[in-house]
Amino acid sequence: MTKVGVLALQGDFAEHLLVLRRMGVSTSEVRLPADLVQVDGLIIPGGESTTISRLVDVYELRSPLVQRAREGMPLFGTCAGLVMLAREVVKDNSVVPLGLVDIQVQRNAFGRQTDSFEADLPVPAIGPEPFPAVFIRAPIVCQVGERVETMAALEDGRVVAVRQGSFLATAFHPELTQDTRLHRYFVEMVKAFGRGS
Ligand code: GLN
Repeated sequence: MTKVGVLALQGDFAEHLLVLRRMGVSTSEVRLPADLVQVDGLIIPGGESTTISRLVDVYELRSPLVQRAREGMPLFGTCAGLVMLAREVVKDNSVVPLGLVDIQVQRNAFGRQTDSFEADLPVPAIGPEPFPAVFIRAPIVCQVGERVETMAALEDGRVVAVRQGSFLATAFHPELTQDTRLHRYFVEMVKAFGRGS
């Protein structure tokens, strides 16, 4: 049976686990390199990317994680998780990203005035209904590489969801809504990986 791991070092990993369990997906918390071996895909949750970045090194997860990702294991990063997946974080060296998705991101891109907000966001890949996207001190994607597919952008054109092959990333928090379509989309990516396609 397909097992989806959630990186459980810091942030709102419990919410992701709850969504997956409600969907009937087998899950496990990932903290150690040995945990990583047990899973077919991994979600990196929202939280503080500075802390997640530091703990990834403390728990010696960085190189096994990058290795599994390069072997094709699907990853889904939400908010701080998107920052972690990026190639580069602009104007900020407090996060050492994993460098897996060819995007440049800017942390806390919406400023204090719009610390958090919700938007009905068109995400055509998951269906015609807009997605109720919750943004909390969210990053934006300020540059997208050639192999990266933009999955969603705000009305002003700022990119907030991308996919590059087996990697999916959103600047918002799908785990904080009742809409499970993005989790389902990711689980399908993980199942496809398990089937070797
Ligand atoms: N501002 C946080 C960071 O860049 C992300 C916030 C979040 O995950 N909700 O780490």
